[in-house]
Amino acid sequence: MAQTPYFYTWTAQKGVKPMEVVGGQGAFFDTDDGSRWLDMGSLSYQANLGHQHPDVIAAVQAQAAELCMTLPNADFPAKRQLAEKLLELAPDGYSKVFFTLGGAEAVENAFKIAKLVTGRQKAISRYRSYHGATMGALTLTGDYRRPPLEPGIPGVIHAMPAYPERCFADCVLGECTGACSSHISQILDYEGPGSVAAVIVEPIVGANGALIPPDGYLPALREACDKHGTLLIFDEVLTGFGRTGKWFAFEHFDAVPDMITLAKGLTAGMAPLGAVLVHERVAKHFDENFLYAGLTNYAHPLGCAAAVASLKVYEKENLIEASAKLGEILLEGVKDIRSDHRKLVPFVRGKGLFAAIEIEIDSDDSFWKRLQSELDAQYVFVHLKPRIKTLLIAPPLVITEEQLKTGIQRIAAAIKAALG
Ligand code: PLP
Repeated sequence: MAQTPYFYTWTAQKGVKPMEVVGGQGAFFDTDDGSRWLDMGSLSYQANLGHQHPDVIAAVQAQAAELCMTLPNADFPAKRQLAEKLLELAPDGYSKVFFTLGGAEAVENAFKIAKLVTGRQKAISRYRSYHGATMGALTLTGDYRRPPLEPGIPGVIHAMPAYPERCFADCVLGECTGACSSHISQILDYEGPGSVAAVIVEPIVGANGALIPPDGYLPALREACDKHGTLLIFDEVLTGFGRTGKWFAFEHFDAVPDMITLAKGLTAGMAPLGAVLVHERVAKHFDENFLYAGLTNYAHPLGCAAAVASLKVYEKENLIEASAKLGEILLEGVKDIRSDHRKLVPFVRGKGLFAAIEIEIDSDDSFWKRLQSELDAQYVFVHLKPRIKTLLIAPPLVITEEQLKTGIQRIAAAIKAALG
Protein backbone atom coordinates (compact mmCIF):
# COMPACT_ATOMS: atom_id res chain seq x y z
CA MET A 1 0.00 0.00 0.00
CA ALA A 2 1.31 3.48 -0.86
CA GLN A 3 2.35 5.48 2.19
CA THR A 4 0.13 8.37 3.21
CA PRO A 5 1.48 11.95 3.18
CA TYR A 6 0.91 12.33 6.92
CA PHE A 7 2.22 10.56 10.00
CA TYR A 8 0.29 8.04 12.04
CA THR A 9 0.83 8.58 15.75
CA TRP A 10 2.57 6.30 18.24
CA THR A 11 3.61 3.75 15.61
CA ALA A 12 6.15 2.95 12.91
CA GLN A 13 4.59 4.09 9.66
CA LYS A 14 4.99 1.00 7.54
CA GLY A 15 2.17 -1.52 7.60
CA VAL A 16 -0.30 0.62 9.54
CA LYS A 17 -3.87 -0.38 8.79
CA PRO A 18 -5.83 2.80 9.44
CA MET A 19 -9.53 2.77 10.18
CA GLU A 20 -11.36 5.19 7.94
CA VAL A 21 -14.22 6.41 10.08
CA VAL A 22 -16.82 8.12 7.91
CA GLY A 23 -19.60 8.82 10.40
CA GLY A 24 -21.75 7.24 13.04
CA GLN A 25 -24.68 7.53 15.36
CA GLY A 26 -25.01 6.98 19.10
CA ALA A 27 -22.71 4.17 20.21
CA PHE A 28 -21.88 3.13 16.63
CA PHE A 29 -19.37 4.43 14.12
CA ASP A 30 -19.15 3.59 10.43
CA THR A 31 -16.12 2.89 8.30
CA ASP A 32 -15.58 3.47 4.59
CA ASP A 33 -16.05 -0.22 3.73
CA GLY A 34 -19.68 0.02 4.86
CA SER A 35 -19.12 -1.61 8.27
CA ARG A 36 -20.85 -0.44 11.45
CA TRP A 37 -18.81 -0.84 14.63
CA LEU A 38 -20.06 -0.97 18.18
CA ASP A 39 -17.83 1.53 19.95
CA MET A 40 -16.89 -0.01 23.30
CA GLY A 41 -13.89 2.33 23.59
CA SER A 42 -15.30 5.80 22.79
CA LEU A 43 -12.59 6.07 20.09
CA SER A 44 -9.71 7.65 22.05
CA TYR A 45 -11.90 7.72 25.19
CA GLN A 46 -13.35 11.04 24.08
CA ALA A 47 -16.67 10.09 22.44
CA ASN A 48 -18.63 10.29 25.71
CA LEU A 49 -21.72 11.50 23.83
CA GLY A 50 -21.35 8.94 21.09
CA HIS A 51 -21.07 9.82 17.43
CA GLN A 52 -22.38 12.86 15.56
CA HIS A 53 -24.52 14.14 18.43
CA PRO A 54 -26.95 16.56 16.72
CA ASP A 55 -27.04 19.13 19.57
CA VAL A 56 -23.28 19.59 19.52
CA ILE A 57 -23.14 19.72 15.72
CA ALA A 58 -25.85 22.40 15.71
CA ALA A 59 -24.06 24.45 18.39
CA VAL A 60 -20.75 24.37 16.52
CA GLN A 61 -22.44 25.30 13.25
CA ALA A 62 -24.26 28.22 14.87
CA GLN A 63 -21.06 29.43 16.57
CA ALA A 64 -19.11 29.16 13.30
CA ALA A 65 -21.72 31.28 11.54
CA GLU A 66 -21.74 33.89 14.32
CA LEU A 67 -18.10 34.13 15.42
CA CYS A 68 -15.50 31.50 14.60
CA MET A 69 -12.34 33.35 15.60
CA THR A 70 -11.39 35.98 18.13
CA LEU A 71 -8.59 37.21 20.37
CA PRO A 72 -7.32 35.01 23.20
CA ASN A 73 -8.46 37.59 25.74
CA ALA A 74 -11.77 38.51 24.10
CA ASP A 75 -15.01 37.91 25.96
CA PHE A 76 -17.91 36.23 24.20
CA PRO A 77 -21.01 34.42 25.47
CA ALA A 78 -19.95 30.79 24.96
CA LYS A 79 -16.64 31.37 26.78
CA ARG A 80 -18.30 32.97 29.76
CA GLN A 81 -21.11 30.40 29.89
CA LEU A 82 -18.63 27.54 29.72
CA ALA A 83 -16.40 28.91 32.47
CA GLU A 84 -19.40 29.55 34.71
CA LYS A 85 -20.77 26.06 34.13
CA LEU A 86 -17.40 24.39 34.77
CA LEU A 87 -16.99 26.30 38.03
CA GLU A 88 -20.50 25.24 39.02
CA LEU A 89 -19.47 21.60 38.51
CA ALA A 90 -16.13 22.08 40.31
CA PRO A 91 -15.78 21.75 44.09
CA ASP A 92 -16.49 24.72 46.36
CA GLY A 93 -13.85 27.40 46.24
CA TYR A 94 -12.87 26.99 42.59
CA SER A 95 -12.81 30.37 40.91
CA LYS A 96 -10.98 30.31 37.55
CA VAL A 97 -10.66 28.36 34.33
CA PHE A 98 -7.60 28.33 32.06
CA PHE A 99 -8.44 27.10 28.54
CA THR A 100 -6.25 24.97 26.29
CA LEU A 101 -6.66 22.96 23.11
CA GLY A 102 -6.34 19.53 24.66
CA GLY A 103 -5.22 17.39 27.57
CA ALA A 104 -1.45 17.67 27.30
CA GLU A 105 -1.60 21.46 27.24
CA ALA A 106 -3.91 21.40 30.25
CA VAL A 107 -1.29 19.39 32.15
CA GLU A 108 1.53 21.69 30.95
CA ASN A 109 -0.33 24.75 32.12
CA ALA A 110 -1.34 23.27 35.46
CA PHE A 111 2.33 22.50 36.12
CA LYS A 112 3.34 26.01 35.02
CA ILE A 113 0.73 27.55 37.31
CA ALA A 114 2.00 25.40 40.18
CA LYS A 115 5.57 26.57 39.53
CA LEU A 116 4.57 30.22 39.33
CA VAL A 117 2.44 30.10 42.46
CA THR A 118 4.82 28.12 44.67
CA GLY A 119 8.11 29.39 43.26
CA ARG A 120 9.26 25.75 43.23
CA GLN A 121 10.49 23.70 40.29
CA LYS A 122 9.77 20.03 40.94
CA ALA A 123 6.77 17.73 40.48
CA ILE A 124 5.94 14.19 41.53
CA SER A 125 3.94 12.01 39.17
CA ARG A 126 3.66 8.23 39.03
CA TYR A 127 4.50 5.18 36.98
CA ARG A 128 1.56 3.66 35.09
CA SER A 129 0.34 7.14 34.16
CA TYR A 130 -0.23 9.06 30.94
CA HIS A 131 -0.36 12.84 30.98
CA GLY A 132 0.11 13.76 27.32
CA ALA A 133 2.63 13.96 24.49
CA THR A 134 4.11 17.46 24.85
CA MET A 135 7.51 17.60 26.52
CA GLY A 136 6.44 18.47 30.06
CA ALA A 137 3.38 16.22 30.07
CA LEU A 138 5.41 13.39 28.59
CA THR A 139 8.09 13.81 31.24
CA LEU A 140 5.36 13.48 33.87
CA THR A 141 4.06 10.38 32.09
CA GLY A 142 4.99 7.05 33.64
CA ASP A 143 4.70 4.61 30.76
CA TYR A 144 6.60 3.32 27.71
CA ARG A 145 6.04 6.52 25.75
CA ARG A 146 8.46 8.59 27.87
CA PRO A 147 11.90 6.89 27.82
CA PRO A 148 12.71 7.41 24.09
CA LEU A 149 12.35 11.17 24.57
CA GLU A 150 14.24 11.53 27.81
CA PRO A 151 15.67 13.50 29.53
CA GLY A 152 12.58 15.70 29.07
CA ILE A 153 12.09 18.59 31.46
CA PRO A 154 14.01 18.80 34.73
CA GLY A 155 12.57 18.26 38.19
CA VAL A 156 10.12 15.40 37.63
CA ILE A 157 10.15 12.51 40.10
CA HIS A 158 8.18 9.33 39.48
CA ALA A 159 6.56 7.44 42.34
CA MET A 160 4.94 4.03 42.42
CA PRO A 161 1.22 3.94 41.57
CA ALA A 162 -1.66 2.84 43.77
CA TYR A 163 -2.43 -0.54 42.21
CA PRO A 164 -4.21 -2.64 44.81
CA GLU A 165 -4.21 -5.87 42.76
CA ARG A 166 -0.44 -5.75 42.25
CA CYS A 167 0.73 -3.59 45.13
CA PHE A 168 4.43 -2.71 44.98
CA ALA A 169 4.54 -3.03 48.78
CA ASP A 170 2.93 -6.49 48.63
CA CYS A 171 -0.26 -5.45 50.45
CA VAL A 172 -2.88 -8.16 50.28
CA LEU A 173 -5.83 -7.10 48.10
CA GLY A 174 -8.44 -5.46 50.32
CA GLU A 175 -5.97 -5.05 53.19
CA CYS A 176 -4.23 -1.86 52.14
CA THR A 177 -1.66 -0.56 54.62
CA GLY A 178 -1.41 2.84 52.93
CA ALA A 179 2.12 2.10 51.65
CA CYS A 180 1.35 3.72 48.28
CA SER A 181 0.45 7.10 49.75
CA SER A 182 3.07 7.10 52.51
CA HIS A 183 5.62 6.34 49.77
CA ILE A 184 4.76 9.68 48.13
CA SER A 185 4.70 11.41 51.48
CA GLN A 186 8.23 10.10 52.14
CA ILE A 187 9.44 11.28 48.73
CA LEU A 188 8.12 14.74 49.61
CA ASP A 189 10.09 14.59 52.87
CA TYR A 190 13.29 13.43 51.18
CA GLU A 191 13.08 15.99 48.38
CA GLY A 192 13.21 18.60 51.08
CA PRO A 193 10.78 21.13 52.46
CA GLY A 194 9.70 23.76 50.01
CA SER A 195 10.97 22.00 46.89
CA VAL A 196 8.07 20.21 45.22
CA ALA A 197 5.54 22.44 43.42
CA ALA A 198 2.97 19.77 42.63
CA VAL A 199 1.89 16.18 42.88
CA ILE A 200 -0.07 15.17 39.79
CA VAL A 201 -2.09 11.98 39.57
CA GLU A 202 -4.97 10.52 37.62
CA PRO A 203 -7.49 9.87 40.46
CA ILE A 204 -8.47 6.68 38.66
CA VAL A 205 -5.72 5.75 36.21
CA GLY A 206 -6.97 5.91 32.63
CA ALA A 207 -5.22 4.30 29.67
CA ASN A 208 -2.70 2.55 31.91
CA GLY A 209 -5.25 0.11 33.25
CA ALA A 210 -8.23 1.73 34.98
CA LEU A 211 -6.40 1.38 38.30
CA ILE A 212 -8.68 2.27 41.20
CA PRO A 213 -6.90 3.43 44.36
CA PRO A 214 -7.92 2.38 47.89
CA ASP A 215 -10.40 4.80 49.50
CA GLY A 216 -7.83 6.40 51.78
CA TYR A 217 -5.23 7.04 49.08
CA LEU A 218 -6.24 10.42 47.65
CA PRO A 219 -7.11 11.88 51.09
CA ALA A 220 -3.63 10.80 52.28
CA LEU A 221 -2.03 12.50 49.27
CA ARG A 222 -4.03 15.62 50.10
CA GLU A 223 -2.70 15.56 53.64
CA ALA A 224 0.90 15.03 52.50
CA CYS A 225 0.64 17.90 50.01
CA ASP A 226 -0.85 20.20 52.64
CA LYS A 227 2.00 19.38 55.02
CA HIS A 228 4.55 20.43 52.39
CA GLY A 229 2.73 23.36 50.78
CA THR A 230 2.67 21.31 47.58
CA LEU A 231 -0.25 21.68 45.17
CA LEU A 232 -2.30 18.61 44.28
CA ILE A 233 -3.38 18.29 40.65
CA PHE A 234 -5.89 15.69 39.50
CA ASP A 235 -5.64 14.83 35.83
CA GLU A 236 -9.23 14.10 34.82
CA VAL A 237 -8.62 14.33 31.08
CA LEU A 238 -9.81 10.77 30.55
CA THR A 239 -11.96 10.21 33.63
CA GLY A 240 -13.82 13.53 33.60
CA PHE A 241 -17.40 14.02 32.44
CA GLY A 242 -19.06 10.87 33.63
CA ARG A 243 -16.63 8.20 32.52
CA THR A 244 -16.55 6.64 36.01
CA GLY A 245 -20.18 7.33 36.97
CA LYS A 246 -19.61 10.76 38.51
CA TRP A 247 -18.79 14.06 36.83
CA PHE A 248 -15.18 13.62 37.98
CA ALA A 249 -13.45 10.48 39.21
CA PHE A 250 -12.09 12.15 42.35
CA GLU A 251 -15.68 12.52 43.59
CA HIS A 252 -15.59 8.81 44.47
CA PHE A 253 -13.08 9.74 47.17
CA ASP A 254 -12.86 12.20 50.02
CA ALA A 255 -10.23 14.53 48.58
CA VAL A 256 -10.34 17.85 46.74
CA PRO A 257 -7.39 18.92 44.58
CA ASP A 258 -6.02 22.41 43.93
CA MET A 259 -6.31 22.08 40.16
CA ILE A 260 -8.15 19.77 37.77
CA THR A 261 -7.10 19.14 34.17
CA LEU A 262 -9.79 18.40 31.59
CA ALA A 263 -10.16 17.67 27.86
CA LYS A 264 -11.70 14.72 25.92
CA GLY A 265 -15.24 14.54 27.38
CA LEU A 266 -15.34 18.33 27.75
CA THR A 267 -16.45 18.57 24.12
CA ALA A 268 -17.02 14.80 23.86
CA GLY A 269 -14.34 14.94 21.17
CA MET A 270 -16.39 17.09 18.81
CA ALA A 271 -13.98 20.04 18.89
CA PRO A 272 -10.49 20.46 20.37
CA LEU A 273 -10.62 21.96 23.84
CA GLY A 274 -9.03 21.41 27.23
CA ALA A 275 -9.12 23.28 30.51
CA VAL A 276 -7.50 23.67 33.90
CA LEU A 277 -9.89 24.37 36.75
CA VAL A 278 -8.18 26.34 39.48
CA HIS A 279 -9.05 26.80 43.14
CA GLU A 280 -9.25 30.37 44.40
CA ARG A 281 -6.35 29.80 46.83
CA VAL A 282 -4.16 29.23 43.75
CA ALA A 283 -5.89 31.56 41.30
CA LYS A 284 -5.66 34.61 43.57
CA HIS A 285 -1.87 34.63 43.13
CA PHE A 286 -2.43 36.00 39.63
CA ASP A 287 -4.49 38.96 40.76
CA GLU A 288 -1.21 40.77 41.27
CA ASN A 289 1.30 38.49 39.56
CA PHE A 290 1.79 38.01 35.83
CA LEU A 291 0.34 34.82 34.33
CA TYR A 292 3.03 33.54 31.98
CA ALA A 293 0.72 31.35 29.92
CA GLY A 294 -1.52 31.62 26.88
CA LEU A 295 -2.28 30.26 23.42
CA THR A 296 -3.37 31.80 20.10
CA ASN A 297 -6.45 29.62 20.15
CA TYR A 298 -7.14 30.12 23.87
CA ALA A 299 -10.86 29.49 24.49
CA HIS A 300 -11.47 29.00 20.79
CA PRO A 301 -15.12 29.87 20.00
CA LEU A 302 -15.85 26.55 18.27
CA GLY A 303 -14.41 24.57 21.17
CA CYS A 304 -16.33 26.64 23.72
CA ALA A 305 -19.59 26.24 21.81
CA ALA A 306 -19.06 22.47 21.54
CA ALA A 307 -18.34 22.26 25.28
CA VAL A 308 -21.36 24.35 26.33
CA ALA A 309 -23.58 22.14 24.18
CA SER A 310 -21.94 18.94 25.44
CA LEU A 311 -22.45 19.90 29.09
CA LYS A 312 -26.13 20.52 28.35
CA VAL A 313 -26.42 17.07 26.76
CA TYR A 314 -24.82 15.36 29.79
CA GLU A 315 -27.51 16.95 31.94
CA LYS A 316 -30.47 16.71 29.57
CA GLU A 317 -29.87 13.02 28.90
CA ASN A 318 -28.88 12.20 32.52
CA LEU A 319 -25.68 10.64 31.28
CA ILE A 320 -23.68 10.78 34.50
CA GLU A 321 -26.41 8.74 36.23
CA ALA A 322 -26.60 6.46 33.19
CA SER A 323 -22.86 5.79 33.44
CA ALA A 324 -23.18 4.83 37.12
CA LYS A 325 -26.17 2.58 36.45
CA LEU A 326 -24.88 0.92 33.30
CA GLY A 327 -21.53 0.60 35.03
CA GLU A 328 -23.05 -2.02 37.32
CA ILE A 329 -23.95 -4.13 34.29
CA LEU A 330 -20.48 -3.64 32.84
CA LEU A 331 -18.81 -4.65 36.10
CA GLU A 332 -20.98 -7.78 36.35
CA GLY A 333 -20.08 -8.54 32.75
CA VAL A 334 -16.34 -8.38 33.26
CA LYS A 335 -16.67 -10.37 36.50
CA ASP A 336 -18.47 -13.10 34.53
CA ILE A 337 -15.63 -13.11 32.00
CA ARG A 338 -13.22 -13.57 34.87
CA SER A 339 -15.15 -16.48 36.33
CA ASP A 340 -15.05 -18.21 32.94
CA HIS A 341 -11.24 -17.96 32.74
CA ARG A 342 -9.98 -17.77 36.32
CA LYS A 343 -6.42 -18.80 35.54
CA LEU A 344 -5.77 -16.45 32.65
CA VAL A 345 -7.92 -13.56 33.83
CA PRO A 346 -6.64 -12.83 37.34
CA PHE A 347 -8.24 -9.42 37.78
CA VAL A 348 -11.11 -7.35 36.48
CA ARG A 349 -12.32 -4.01 37.79
CA GLY A 350 -14.55 -1.11 36.82
CA LYS A 351 -16.19 2.15 37.85
CA GLY A 352 -19.03 3.57 35.80
CA LEU A 353 -18.58 2.93 32.11
CA PHE A 354 -14.88 2.21 32.46
CA ALA A 355 -13.61 -1.31 33.03
CA ALA A 356 -10.46 -3.39 32.71
CA ILE A 357 -9.86 -7.06 32.07
CA GLU A 358 -6.32 -8.22 32.83
CA ILE A 359 -5.25 -11.21 30.76
CA GLU A 360 -2.14 -12.94 32.01
CA ILE A 361 -0.54 -13.63 28.62
CA ASP A 362 2.76 -12.13 27.45
CA SER A 363 2.53 -9.14 25.15
CA ASP A 364 4.44 -10.90 22.35
CA ASP A 365 2.20 -13.97 22.39
CA SER A 366 0.08 -14.44 19.25
CA PHE A 367 -2.97 -14.46 21.54
CA TRP A 368 -3.19 -10.66 21.36
CA LYS A 369 -3.31 -10.67 17.54
CA ARG A 370 -5.92 -13.41 17.63
CA LEU A 371 -7.98 -11.42 20.11
CA GLN A 372 -7.78 -8.32 17.91
CA SER A 373 -8.94 -10.35 14.88
CA GLU A 374 -11.83 -11.88 16.82
CA LEU A 375 -12.97 -8.44 18.00
CA ASP A 376 -12.63 -7.02 14.48
CA ALA A 377 -14.64 -9.89 13.06
CA GLN A 378 -17.51 -8.92 15.38
CA TYR A 379 -17.11 -5.19 14.71
CA VAL A 380 -16.44 -4.34 18.33
CA PHE A 381 -14.01 -1.54 19.09
CA VAL A 382 -12.12 -1.69 22.42
CA HIS A 383 -8.66 -0.75 23.68
CA LEU A 384 -6.30 -3.71 23.62
CA LYS A 385 -3.13 -3.08 25.61
CA PRO A 386 -0.78 -6.06 25.32
CA ARG A 387 2.05 -4.14 27.05
CA ILE A 388 0.04 -4.04 30.25
CA LYS A 389 -1.82 -7.26 29.42
CA THR A 390 -5.14 -5.47 29.67
CA LEU A 391 -8.29 -4.92 27.65
CA LEU A 392 -10.00 -1.62 28.45
CA ILE A 393 -13.68 -0.96 27.91
CA ALA A 394 -15.05 2.60 27.82
CA PRO A 395 -18.24 2.90 25.77
CA PRO A 396 -20.00 6.20 25.06
CA LEU A 397 -22.31 7.18 27.92
CA VAL A 398 -25.22 7.23 25.47
CA ILE A 399 -24.96 3.47 24.93
CA THR A 400 -28.23 1.62 25.64
CA GLU A 401 -28.45 -1.30 28.06
CA GLU A 402 -29.06 -3.69 25.19
CA GLN A 403 -26.10 -2.40 23.19
CA LEU A 404 -23.88 -2.62 26.26
CA LYS A 405 -24.90 -6.23 26.89
CA THR A 406 -24.26 -7.06 23.23
CA GLY A 407 -20.82 -5.46 23.47
CA ILE A 408 -19.92 -7.41 26.60
CA GLN A 409 -21.13 -10.68 25.02
CA ARG A 410 -19.03 -10.05 21.93
CA ILE A 411 -15.94 -9.25 24.00
CA ALA A 412 -16.48 -12.41 26.05
CA ALA A 413 -16.89 -14.47 22.88
CA ALA A 414 -13.76 -12.94 21.34
CA ILE A 415 -11.66 -13.71 24.43
CA LYS A 416 -12.96 -17.26 24.50
CA ALA A 417 -12.24 -17.80 20.81
CA ALA A 418 -8.76 -16.25 21.03
CA LEU A 419 -7.85 -18.42 24.00
CA GLY A 420 -8.90 -21.40 21.87
N1 PLP B 1 -4.03 13.14 30.54
C1 PLP B 1 -4.67 11.96 30.48
C2 PLP B 1 -5.08 11.28 31.76
C3 PLP B 1 -4.94 11.37 29.25
O1 PLP B 1 -5.55 10.17 29.20
C4 PLP B 1 -4.54 12.04 28.07
C5 PLP B 1 -4.81 11.46 26.74
O2 PLP B 1 -5.10 10.31 26.58
C6 PLP B 1 -3.88 13.27 28.19
C7 PLP B 1 -3.65 13.80 29.43
C8 PLP B 1 -3.45 14.01 26.96
O3 PLP B 1 -4.54 14.52 26.28
P1 PLP B 1 -4.42 15.01 24.76
O4 PLP B 1 -4.17 13.80 23.95
O5 PLP B 1 -5.73 15.68 24.49
O6 PLP B 1 -3.29 15.96 24.69
